Amino acid sequence: MDGALALVVVGSAAGVAAGFWLGARRRGAVEAERVESSPTPTRAPIDALQVLRGADAAMFAERDAQELADELRPYLVDVARQHGASEVTLWRRAGGETETLEIVASSAAGELPRATAWGTAPERALVTWSAAEQMVGFERRDGEPRIAICPVRFASGEPAGAIVLATSERFLTARDALRDWMPRHAAQVGRLASLFAARNEVARQSQFTRALLRIARDLQRAHEPEALESALCDYAVEVTGAEYAMLLRWNAESRSGLVSASSKQAPDSLREGRVTATSVAGVSCSEGTASFWEDARFLSDRGGVLRDDDAGVVAGSLAVLPMMRGSDAIGAIIVGASVPGVLRALEIRNGSVLSALAVNALETAWELADASRRSRTDALTGLWNRRHFDEQLERVLAETDRFGGSCALVICDIDFFKRVNDTHGHDAGDVVLQQVSRVLHEGVRSVDVCARLGGEELALILPQTSLEGAAELAERLRQGIQALEVPQAGRTLQVTVSMGVATYHAGSAGRATLFKRADERLYAAKHAGRNQVVAGD
Ligand code: GH3
Ligand code: MG
Ligand code: MG
Repeated sequence: MDGALALVVVGSAAGVAAGFWLGARRRGAVEAERVESSPTPTRAPIDALQVLRGADAAMFAERDAQELADELRPYLVDVARQHGASEVTLWRRAGGETETLEIVASSAAGELPRATAWGTAPERALVTWSAAEQMVGFERRDGEPRIAICPVRFASGEPAGAIVLATSERFLTARDALRDWMPRHAAQVGRLASLFAARNEVARQSQFTRALLRIARDLQRAHEPEALESALCDYAVEVTGAEYAMLLRWNAESRSGLVSASSKQAPDSLREGRVTATSVAGVSCSEGTASFWEDARFLSDRGGVLRDDDAGVVAGSLAVLPMMRGSDAIGAIIVGASVPGVLRALEIRNGSVLSALAVNALETAWELADASRRSRTDALTGLWNRRHFDEQLERVLAETDRFGGSCALVICDIDFFKRVNDTHGHDAGDVVLQQVSRVLHEGVRSVDVCARLGGEELALILPQTSLEGAAELAERLRQGIQALEVPQAGRTLQVTVSMGVATYHAGSAGRATLFKRADERLYAAKHAGRNQVVAGD
């Protein structure tokens, strides 16, 4: 590395690079010329590389790099021998947009003496520049090339990195011949790397296909909507390589939807809630077309993912895969990742297969659940019916025995309801019944069971509740009903209720008599003048 050396630059684009190179290293000789890309053939009946091109995106992925290095080393050793190089190194582009390069394979691992200290910044800079500018470069000493660099491209034409030949003495091959050979070696390395990546893709794809078959079998056995929906989110993550998934149920008629399940990793604002027609997911469902963004950062310009107001939530990649019944979407699987480029077309196709597989299972599960719900719901008030009430009372009593504490039962009867019917008509009575039911339904917790036992008699099952707590709640509800003003023929109608409250304590003898005791308190409330709550054990 000593002695005054001349700088030789060949090629037009090299001017800038020469300046950069000079700044990095003052005493060296560099020459460079543009790599000619091979002319496009006018007729190519069989394009052997075509099959490889799709795989390039995953090339040199961190997890494959070591395996790829082992695969390429024999070829690199041959190249080194052919030209009398003491070392050949293959560099890959790493770090995405920062365009740094790092060594992925070297001929020097055991087979040849290592001649070059590749850690030095100027040498790295020269390789980086050569790969970025697609230039063949030489560094010379005493008129002889000492380092030769050639950019490597993937089968798709994307820049992949560079190969670098280095010698401590002199190459066996003359400079001009080396200039011809370097692009050929680079092309061969590109092909081998693409082939390697394609093999890995095939392996990955066959793994996905096996998973999809297993999932298809599992789906046939799933009939419970909640379990099925959350399993579908897991499956979607498994077959697409996404970080998270959401499942949404879509109503084609009302052009609206609801998130029904999501993975824990999903952003909070996407994990639940409604889906509007003008959102990204809504448009996909309305049009019945899958949408896929490798880079979803620009999605914030298009309105939100689920709602118009969640814009900017998704920062990475996203795909919306509608589940179609004929020309209508019944829902969609959404998969996403926090950084761009995680989702790829190949794996999104797996997600679409999953969407298609899920349609029947979901429709069946939803229909069964809806039918079961209908058979347990009172048509007039929307509250649970007597059948569901009886089952739930058994369940809550059993849970009280198991977990301890107490539960409460409230029975509620509208006062002088016959008069409402007689004075204002049966339809007015129905409206009163609906409004009273709404006050009860809206006034209790989601774990409480609110049912219509029959006629104008309503009931509340309150798990893990004391007598005092239940009496307080009943009193609050009684006041709420008293305050109701039901519009009726230009006037307002008011009603009151009487309530009986009783509780059951874990392991006590009162299990069989709970209903009877609550009913007796109700009777006592009626006798004491109505419009009141009577609680007691
Ligand atoms: P009390 O204060 O003692 O409870 O008096 P009440 O008039 O409410 O009691 P009663 O049991 O004598 O009357 C209940 C009435 O509720 C009789 C029935 O016509 C009416 N009813 C039962 N089911 C319905 C319904 O679905 N719709 C309407 N509009 N009325 C109903
Ligand atoms: Mg009554
Ligand atoms: Mg009654």
